[in-house]
Amino acid sequence: MQRLKIAIRGLVQGVGFRPFVYRLAREESLGGWVKNSPQGVFIEVEGPKKSLDDFLLRLPQEKPPLSFIQSLEYSVLEPVGYPDFQIGRSEDGGERQALILPDIATCPQCQQEVFSPTDRRHRYPFTNCTLCGPRFSIIQALPYDRRHTTMKKFAMCERCAGEYQEPEVRRFHAQPNACPDCGPQLALWDGAGAPLAQGDTALVEAAAAIRRGEVLALKGIGGFQLLVDARNEDGVARLRQRKRREEKPLALMCPDLDSARRCVHLSPLEEQVLLSPQSPVLLARRRAKPGVAASVAPGNPHLGVMLPYSPLHHLLMRELGFPVVATSGNLHDEPIVTDEEEAVATLGGIADCFLVHDRPIERYVDDSVVRVQLGRQLILRRARGYAPLPVTLTRTLPPLLAVGAHLKNTVAISRGRDVILSQHIGDLETAPAYFAFQKVIQDLLRLYEVRPQAVVCDAHPDYLSSQHARELGLPVVEVFHHHAHLASCLAENELEGDVLGVTWDGAGYGEDGTIWGGEFLAGDARSYRRVATFRPFRLPGGERAMREPRRSALGLLLEMEGPAALARPPGRAGRSFLEGFSEPERRLLGQMLARGSGSPVTSSCGRLFDAVAALLGIKTVSSFEGQAAMMVEFAVKDEVEDGYPVSLRSPAGGGPLVFDWEPLVRAILREHEQGVEVGVICARLHNTLADLIVEVARRVGLERVALTGGCFQNRYLTERAFQRLEAAGFRPFTHQRVPPNDGGIALGQIAVAAAKVA
Ligand code: ZN
Ligand code: ZN
Ligand code: FE
Repeated sequence: MQRLKIAIRGLVQGVGFRPFVYRLAREESLGGWVKNSPQGVFIEVEGPKKSLDDFLLRLPQEKPPLSFIQSLEYSVLEPVGYPDFQIGRSEDGGERQALILPDIATCPQCQQEVFSPTDRRHRYPFTNCTLCGPRFSIIQALPYDRRHTTMKKFAMCERCAGEYQEPEVRRFHAQPNACPDCGPQLALWDGAGAPLAQGDTALVEAAAAIRRGEVLALKGIGGFQLLVDARNEDGVARLRQRKRREEKPLALMCPDLDSARRCVHLSPLEEQVLLSPQSPVLLARRRAKPGVAASVAPGNPHLGVMLPYSPLHHLLMRELGFPVVATSGNLHDEPIVTDEEEAVATLGGIADCFLVHDRPIERYVDDSVVRVQLGRQLILRRARGYAPLPVTLTRTLPPLLAVGAHLKNTVAISRGRDVILSQHIGDLETAPAYFAFQKVIQDLLRLYEVRPQAVVCDAHPDYLSSQHARELGLPVVEVFHHHAHLASCLAENELEGDVLGVTWDGAGYGEDGTIWGGEFLAGDARSYRRVATFRPFRLPGGERAMREPRRSALGLLLEMEGPAALARPPGRAGRSFLEGFSEPERRLLGQMLARGSGSPVTSSCGRLFDAVAALLGIKTVSSFEGQAAMMVEFAVKDEVEDGYPVSLRSPAGGGPLVFDWEPLVRAILREHEQGVEVGVICARLHNTLADLIVEVARRVGLERVALTGGCFQNRYLTERAFQRLEAAGFRPFTHQRVPPNDGGIALGQIAVAAAKVA
């Protein structure tokens, strides 16, 4: 038994939506309710998983003909025992708070108009209506009105103004309403920004450039994208080389669902995600012959695919008829570019030509990334289509601002029961990223007119985000990184009371000043106890270890064997990763580790994955954060059920239980030496960690277990842990609408600070 909580926004009131939901729930024999509110239609249904899955698939497919869903978000929660299904009373009282909608993928009617030769919007790339089109990316102020959007510079022609004023028309009060006579226009520029073509010719010429293997920078909805023919190995390689992006997977845009089906395997739920109004990048299992260049996502069993979500994308993709790489138009670690002049300046060295238009983008919004695990949706990057929809909590919050984490940053504000999470900002590693972060904060506060009582930041003393928090002149609440992870998971699952939080990630500042990352915290948003942790080890070179798994491996071996590890004899295992270090480097590493300088102590689970990757020769130096750990997951051979023994000790002087990874690492080295298949070893590593979670849960004795932190982007680990926890009588939870990685930290920071203030 599970409960689904669904929030739907769109044309869902006064069109027979509630009776439809009632019928559907009765047909699936589900308990619960449906009700209207000024914020949208809210549904809760509960019953067996299979019926809930069917309900969720049927909802958008069988909805009343006049209705239109602009956004649908749901969470799987604990059942509460509804006896039957009811249509609840509408909530029309209360404060009517302005809701800003995300950008919405082109609706079927607008698509039809764009491709209909007799329509006045035939081939017009900025067609939209009351149901679809840009929102968050063009709003400058509330209330949402044309004069408060970047469309204000376009005066509507007589026909458009007529549509805008006619209640019976689909464009009644469609703020971005436009047509070829009065709206934004396309242009094609060369690599230096010189005009090449206008209007439809620009589109046709841009398609021709892609067909020639050139890199096109396209001004989309929330910023620029870089496009190249995904089938063209040289083209993709050129894009990678110019963008200095070595191996990190690139997303694809496919012309239509059939084309996406030829690239990846899709379940009905995955197809629904692709076709949803959010239209995110979906990570799905690649087909044996996906028909795209190997360099799109080297060594990765998944491909990220999306479908066209604006008329401009629909027109271009129809012109092409094959998948293209569609990646963010930015420089490494910088925010995506939104302005065409700026694009020429920053992307000039990457793109051969620019397909631009004159509708300004008010704020950048990246493509979102979603995948299906545990048979439900998991958002890995929350941006276009989802931001700025609120995550609604169970109680009223004081007005707060949370500045998030250092990597994969998002910020958040609270208002009433809502937490409004910003769009994905990214790693705060460069000056432009830090600047963008400050801008997003100002933007959110201004847009929602929130005056925060306090600002919440990470307890890390040196984070730029924390420094910025202290400069705002507000009371500052510091929250420990892993407590924020735990609180984030509890908040979105609506859990109250003590829970065992398994908070595993790469790095977060811990209470004792060391780098935490393999933590078990028992508690809730108010407080926690660290009940178990990984045996600590040193990371030679600190930050550099993030990109060099071999440093984590060396750290483990030195902890086990002392300086002898540096002279580990050649063999199948334990040697290869050392060979990458030069003789002077090795001497330096030895000295560093002996003195403990430049080699911070960590209990990170992410770094343990890295170390195993290096020891098994899977990856010794990564080209992007998290790559080695991902490769360990991808190496897993299916149908291996056993693991290695779990060593969990209680320290003599009390304190948290310690997971001693040494027997695990020794077993891995031994089996590798003996020639056991790497895939089998990787499976056993995952199984051991799942067993560890169950073992700690048993010792701690809390029934509910929350899995959170970047390590739970690992689908195999998450699913294994769920299976084993459930089999042992525990109730596991993980993320759904908010990423398990540091993109979800801001939500947790708000939850912790709110609990403390209360
Ligand atoms: Zn439309
Ligand atoms: Zn017009
Ligand atoms: Fe983290």
